[in-house]
Amino acid sequence: MQIFSCPFCGPRPEPEFHFGGELGNHRPAPDCSPEAWAQYLHFRTNPRGAAEEIWLHIPCGELFKMHRDTVTMTALPGRALGDQP
Ligand SMILES: [Zn+2]
Repeated sequence: MQIFSCPFCGPRPEPEFHFGGELGNHRPAPDCSPEAWAQYLHFRTNPRGAAEEIWLHIPCGELFKMHRDTVTMTALPGRALGDQP
């Protein structure tokens, strides 16, 4: 079982986490074009290798960012959203 590290609770088993999306996929303005809204909702870069992602630790309810490699499945310890990269 893979272990992810919540910045608030420490190392925990992966089933306690929920993927929240790519880091940097910001919600567009309410008056954006339908194309911009579709881009926000449906299109992802889906990188092979290094990825910066948002994750939710379900037991504590905190969102955080995590660097994960999608090929090797390695994950660095999570960082609070307000922390610098
Ligand atoms: Zn936590």
